Amino acid sequence: MQRLILDFDGPIMDISDRYYRVYQICLEKTKLPEQKLNILSKKEFWDLKRDRISEQEIGKISGLNNDQCQNFAKLRNQLAHQLNFLEIDQPIFGVIATLEALKKRSDLDLVVMTMRKEKELKLALKQHNLERFFPSDRRYFIADDYVKKSDIEDKPLLMKRALKELPFVEKTWMIGDKEADIVSAKNHNIAIIAVLSGIRNRQQLEKYQPDFIVNNLTEAIKIIR
Ligand SMILES: [Mg+2]
Repeated sequence: MQRLILDFDGPIMDISDRYYRVYQICLEKTKLPEQKLNILSKKEFWDLKRDRISEQEIGKISGLNNDQCQNFAKLRNQLAHQLNFLEIDQPIFGVIATLEALKKRSDLDLVVMTMRKEKELKLALKQHNLERFFPSDRRYFIADDYVKKSDIEDKPLLMKRALKELPFVEKTWMIGDKEADIVSAKNHNIAIIAVLSGIRNRQQLEKYQPDFIVNNLTEAIKIIR
């Protein structure tokens, strides 16, 4: 038996439209009525996010002054995970078919592990009919009332709990799109495959030395056959 621990946003869900929509709204709410801005295209914006450019810096590049950048970043953090925006997210192309194929394999135990809060995960699982892939004892998420520190601190804790609770398997794999996924896996000697379908580019992922870097989940599972 092998176990596959899947990060949710990045390997499964595409959050780029949501983040871009929130970016547009925050710019609109922050700028002065006559202020000329350099509004980034979706691709320009997402390339910056994938290169780990901060919200403040993105505000600056978009033409906001320093004070405005602070407000812009604050507002962005307030809005980015509101449920009405979370509904914008879509499963990554091809992911449902891949999950269906994985679910048929009797030698594989599927787990989802996310920095989403419970209500945020539930909403997406229900909206896109993904509940069938992850029974409730195979879902690891952040409690709704938990005060998050940072992904890089919180995710290894979640991993620790999962490894304690889940039944023994011969081998465990993790698939994720961010540094927190790579660190969590490496801390526990779990093989980690990083995917480029999420919020980091190859240069950023390489810094954390995952075992593999592939384009998406569909490619990742070819490695763990
Ligand atoms: Mg992710």
